[in-house]
Amino acid sequence: MPFDLLIKNANLPDDRIGMDIAVTGGKIVAVESDITGQAGRVIDAGGRLVTPPFIDIHFHMDATLSLGTPRLNQSGTLLEGIQLWGELKPLLDKQAIIERALRYCDLAVAQGLLAVRSHVDVCDDRLVGVEALLEVRDLVRDYLDLQLVAFPQDGFYRSPTAAGNLVRALDMGVEVVGGIPHFERTMEDGRLSVRALCEIAAERGLMVDLHCDETDDPLSRHIETLAFETQRLGLQGRVAGSHLTSMHSMDNYYASKLLALIAEAEIHCVPNPLANIVLQGRHDVYPKRRGMMRVPELMALGVNVAFGQDSCMDPWYSFGSADMLEVAHMAVHTGHMTSRDAVKSCFRAITENPARVFGLGGYGLAPGCNADFVLLEARDTIEAIRLKANRLSVVRRGKVIAETAPRMAMLSLEGRPSTVEPWRYAPVEARSS
Ligand SMILES: [Zn+2]
Repeated sequence: MPFDLLIKNANLPDDRIGMDIAVTGGKIVAVESDITGQAGRVIDAGGRLVTPPFIDIHFHMDATLSLGTPRLNQSGTLLEGIQLWGELKPLLDKQAIIERALRYCDLAVAQGLLAVRSHVDVCDDRLVGVEALLEVRDLVRDYLDLQLVAFPQDGFYRSPTAAGNLVRALDMGVEVVGGIPHFERTMEDGRLSVRALCEIAAERGLMVDLHCDETDDPLSRHIETLAFETQRLGLQGRVAGSHLTSMHSMDNYYASKLLALIAEAEIHCVPNPLANIVLQGRHDVYPKRRGMMRVPELMALGVNVAFGQDSCMDPWYSFGSADMLEVAHMAVHTGHMTSRDAVKSCFRAITENPARVFGLGGYGLAPGCNADFVLLEARDTIEAIRLKANRLSVVRRGKVIAETAPRMAMLSLEGRPSTVEPWRYAPVEARSS
């Protein structure tokens, strides 16, 4: 038996069609048309899309699935979300966090989401969230890559014990340095926190991922400091700026300077379209701002932009379903990214772009890569986003770990077809190439 698994007649994200993918020993060994040979299992993709797994590069797994405890966010604002999380924090226990996180990972796997970077709050002196998610990271290792960011939710300086706790969390094995400069008491404290956090990362050889300028205040410019510190400390390619929502509201002349600095410092930019569209603009009367960073403009400068989900049923966002296609769908709308090329770039922002931020090895659909991929009930990447397509098969290291039945409605209309399959409505005239 030469192959463990053979996928036949798949379309790929790079627009190749009719390709076969052969898998042996958990690795992809060939991606060609018409691969022959026996296989332990053969899956006929039938002209549907096979993609590397989805990656969520910005999430809060310690808070997920906690919606309603101890109460709901009435104003819908970021600040009430932080306050609500503060009320919930003392009530958290390690086992309950582990159970919620594992349950969320089940949903993620079913959605073809096999790598998650999660922030974990270090402003609880017990560090129960850190202990819980470190345990979860080990428990899910065989099916999901979980990377953790030490996140001082209440402020690196504003919270009296955050600085010490953050270092403790890193010592315990959390691998990325987080921060929240716009939440510090003053602009100056915010600037100093960016410097201190980047220095910690540089000393320890770690990556940085800051909640940065998550505000509608156009004068919140901590990203400028982050770009400067990245260059000063030689951290290029290892630093992510999450949210950057103030960029939406900035003066256009200043933004033209700033975006070039971000590109020069090789900062990864991480918008969270679902959270940004609901949390930002809350203090506006009409017209109401959208609050998503300038994604097409950043991409045009060659900046690596990767989308995060941020939240799923927690104090900040009551919706969410571990569906990165839903995240990309929102980005397409919020960013007016509706050209065929722009939609394709949004698909890359939930697959290959976050893989670069994460530093995920063996990712992709090429010989030698890990045999991790998802068969979607859609013809191509554009259709996948339009349909928020079903994940027919989710494969990890060559094994099918989740399957979903195809979507089909039965019709009872005289003179009309008896079934409807949404994926077959793909527009013939607008092939994505
Ligand atoms: Zn966040």
